[in-house]
Amino acid sequence: MKQKKVDLSIVIPVYNEEENLPILYEKLKKVLDNLGKSYEIIFVNDGSTDGSWKIIKELAEKDPHVIGVNFRRNYGQTAAMSAGFDVANGEVIITMDADLQNDPEDIPKLLEKIEEGYDIVSGWRKDRKDAFISRTLPSRIANWLISKVTGVNLHDYGCSLKAYRSEIAKNLDYYGEMHRFLPALAKPLGAKVIEIPVKHHPRLYGKSKYGISRTFKVILDLFLVKFLLDYRTKPLRVFGGTGLIFLLVGILTLLYLTCLKFCAGQDIGDRPLLIFGTLFFLTGIQLISTGIIAELITRTYYESQNKRPYVIKEIVEKES
Ligand code: UDP
Ligand code: MG
Repeated sequence: MKQKKVDLSIVIPVYNEEENLPILYEKLKKVLDNLGKSYEIIFVNDGSTDGSWKIIKELAEKDPHVIGVNFRRNYGQTAAMSAGFDVANGEVIITMDADLQNDPEDIPKLLEKIEEGYDIVSGWRKDRKDAFISRTLPSRIANWLISKVTGVNLHDYGCSLKAYRSEIAKNLDYYGEMHRFLPALAKPLGAKVIEIPVKHHPRLYGKSKYGISRTFKVILDLFLVKFLLDYRTKPLRVFGGTGLIFLLVGILTLLYLTCLKFCAGQDIGDRPLLIFGTLFFLTGIQLISTGIIAELITRTYYESQNKRPYVIKEIVEKES
């Protein structure tokens, strides 16, 4: 694999897009050749069962700007993006879909914002060309929710057309189907994020790979994102905090019952409060232990990979 630095890497996950690829390539070429920057186009073939890989291979063989990455099977759009980030040599990395729904002509606008100093420029499909009830409406609700929960306000998390400064893209870690949360996940890195309206076209060839069920998955992922954003380095705070409340209520209830038994001589064996107190006590202990285990896992995570819980922008020092 080539290790040369370029100004710009375009990362494109591809899953069964054979009709779209040649058109996309031509459009991209036209825009990129006019930029006056060095660039590479990385197509990541995510286990396509049609002729997509054949087309990518042909492009890579004839054009030195093109890099083709071929997955063994279909791993999903997030994994494909991640592979693209790993391979990318560009100072700026731009992601987009292969289905011609994003428009390469928006690329210069994204770059302008990066040059202004932003770390992530996210596309906003202001005039979205997808079905309203099954796609656009659920996505509006999801975007509102994600913005509220993460504190990173975007109208359109789902738009794939985004530009990242490379050190941000390469420092993000995410799994599953988390690529849409990248601007939020970049918050702990101190990334400056901005959103700009971009064009959106209806899908002409091939089928969309997602349906309504994605909205529910997105909401589930949001819990994890919230946790990762606020507590990844201090999980004991979440588990231990609630655990302490449970423990305290449990102890007070059991003390009250003990008092009834020994001070007032009452029978407490058949009181529902006894079960209540015991449950609270045990749950409290369980939660606190879970928190401590989570703390240990966090340490393993950071220390085994030599990760630091902070990211330094620069260090200045007088040479001696
Ligand atoms: N994609 C992929 N792997 C998958 C599903 C999708 O690489 O498992 C790619 C797909 O080829 C396209 C992009 O991800 O380039 C977005 O997919 P799609 O257009 O189906 O999503 P939508 O625009 O409908 O949200
Ligand atoms: Mg699409």
